[in-house]
Formats: sequence, C-alpha cells, structure tokens
Amino acid sequence: MIKLELATLIFLYILFSVIGILVIWIFFGYKGIKRPPAKETDYVWKCSVCLNDYIDSKNEDISVCPLCGSYNKKEGISR
Ligand SMILES: [Zn+2]
Repeated sequence: MIKLELATLIFLYILFSVIGILVIWIFFGYKGIKRPPAKETDYVWKCSVCLNDYIDSKNEDISVCPLCGSYNKKEGISR
C-alpha cells in the first residue's frame, strides 16, 4: 500500500514537472514567435554626414550609408 502511494507520488511529481516544463517552453516559444513586428520607422536611418534618409532593416546598431559610405550609429530609443 505504501509502495503504491509512493509510486503514485513519484508519478505525479514527474507528471507535474513535465507539464510545468512544457508550459514554460510553450510560453517562451510563443513569446519568441509572437514578437511584435518592427515598425517601418525602426528601419529608417539618417546619415550624420550627408543627412540622407535611407532604410536598413538588416542592421540594428550600426549601419552604412548607401550614399557616402559612412557608418551611422543608432540613436534615440534603445531597444
Ligand atoms: Zn551618408
């Protein structure tokens, strides 16, 4: 009788552990996929040398101006 209860307890412990891990996994996986799409303005860069406005969606911190080739650092809202 005690052995059966112990087995049930272990079973429940493992079951809830797996469910907990699954819930956390799904939650974080869902959050990773369901990231809010970046706004169009996030990709707009303004060159500090030639004041050219251009779009670069590949880089987030430093971008190269297509006109003069100078490096621009993202300023303003830090994400
Ligand atoms: Zn430029």
